[in-house]
Amino acid sequence: MKLLVLCITVLFSVATASAESVELSGRLEQGGIVFGTVNAGTQLTVDGRAVSVSDRGRFVFGLDRNARSSATLVVRDPDGAETTQVISVAPRDWLIERVDGLPQNTVTPNPKTVKRIQAEGGMIVAARNRTEPVPFFETGFLQPAQGRISGVFGSQRILNGQPRSPHSGLDIAAPTGTPIVATADGIVSLVHDGMVLTGKTVMIDHGFGLDSVYIHMSEIKVEQGQPVRQGDPIGAIGMTGRTNGPHLHFGISWYGAKLDPQTVLAALPAGEDLLQ
Ligand SMILES: [Zn+2]
Repeated sequence: MKLLVLCITVLFSVATASAESVELSGRLEQGGIVFGTVNAGTQLTVDGRAVSVSDRGRFVFGLDRNARSSATLVVRDPDGAETTQVISVAPRDWLIERVDGLPQNTVTPNPKTVKRIQAEGGMIVAARNRTEPVPFFETGFLQPAQGRISGVFGSQRILNGQPRSPHSGLDIAAPTGTPIVATADGIVSLVHDGMVLTGKTVMIDHGFGLDSVYIHMSEIKVEQGQPVRQGDPIGAIGMTGRTNGPHLHFGISWYGAKLDPQTVLAALPAGEDLLQ
């Protein structure tokens, strides 16, 4: 399916000599990714979070699955002039997805396991907050494994009959041992051999706050801190952690804001330099 890529130009105040024009491309919607170019030296924030700008003026930011209906961009020109623009964020309708047959101790864990899940969640958050000031994501993104799409981003989930958090990634079902490759260039930011929920887990930092995560793996072929190129093998599909069958759960986030991997793959595909 070819997803529509919206290109939106936001014109800032033209009343002053320092007026700044920022072109935004991508998807201004929940779970969307937005990117563009400004004059080098420009500073940018979205809802108060600093957005990295490359030496060539490129930037990227993400909109969470639960993003509110608007976001506030503040642009500070190299000469110090500041402009503010409120952008609309389109809401999305989400599926309701029922998953049964999960190990019950992963759906209603005992207090000791809850503590372990919290500690492991802390490791993931810490990895997301460390990000390289290098725009590795400029390679674009490719689907990291081939298989049947068995779960989409954002679904409201009912696990073994109990409501749980929305689905934060894309599920690709394929036999155990199916290769998984890096979706884009980056640095491996986390490797874990067996988290309660996610099993064998790999995260890759793509710079500027963007990262990808690969979970339920049967095998891991990379080490923490290792640089990877797009398409490099990083492991294999499995069914470790909270799952009822072999699949890759593939997630992308921007400083922890959960983005729709299918949106990112469509908006920033590998091999097309949309940021030129
Ligand atoms: Zn999943």
